[in-house]
Amino acid sequence: NVRLESIKRRFNNVTAIEDITFEIPDGEFWVLVGPSGCGKSTILRTIAGLENATSGNLYIGEQLVNNIPARQRDVAMVFQNYALYPHMSVAENIAFGMKMRKIDPKLIQQRVGEVARSLSLEHLLDRKPKQLSGGQQQRVALGRAIARQAQVFLLDEPLSNLDAQLRDDTRAELKQLHQALRNTTVYVTHDQVEAMTLADKIVVLNGGQIQQIGEPQTIYNQPTNRMVATFIGNPP
Ligand code: ATP
Ligand code: MG
Repeated sequence: NVRLESIKRRFNNVTAIEDITFEIPDGEFWVLVGPSGCGKSTILRTIAGLENATSGNLYIGEQLVNNIPARQRDVAMVFQNYALYPHMSVAENIAFGMKMRKIDPKLIQQRVGEVARSLSLEHLLDRKPKQLSGGQQQRVALGRAIARQAQVFLLDEPLSNLDAQLRDDTRAELKQLHQALRNTTVYVTHDQVEAMTLADKIVVLNGGQIQQIGEPQTIYNQPTNRMVATFIGNPP
């Protein structure tokens, strides 16, 4: 599980997130939503260890990880800007996290093939990132994270650069992958449809604070305030 206890992050005098407390049980898919600047990426980056909380405690699988560096956390992240390694091929990018973990090369090759197939990238394995479209690059970034098979999967708007059709397809693919892999997932999106279709639980944020946590139907039917209702598309 992933547990946040009163996590706060300040940048100089700006409070990005405040009093963020929730616990994600193993294997669940949680979606963070809220307007631009509400603190979604800051929460993901804090879980990943790319950002240090100003105060509060963070646990991953019962271990307090406040002072554990990012590379020692069993976490895979897809960033909003999905930085790929420009000098590596698609196959090498997907394999990267596994190589770092010294997995058997035969197994790596096999898993790269599986992941590429599931994301329709198998015909692009020898290309370099700059020879790909934005949507293709984004799918490679997803593939790299999936291939790594981390305990915790952090996705920051991973479908934002895809056209509508590809977004629907990749969203369905992600849902299937999650049903197969069952890794604990925290997923950030602006898109209500993504939130409603993917989430076990939705966390609605505004101004760095949690407005409501609940199952999609509950958030939709019983929003706790006007902001939640409006944001989730069921205004009063
Ligand atoms: P978006 O939907 O636009 O990606 P977000 O919900 O991911 O927004 P964050 O990136 O978490 O928002 O930012 C939360 C707040 O913290 C914003 O006010 C932002 O300006 C501020 N912030 C984030 N990172 C930094 C930083 N490195 N230095 C200063 N302020 C920051
Ligand atoms: Mg963000």
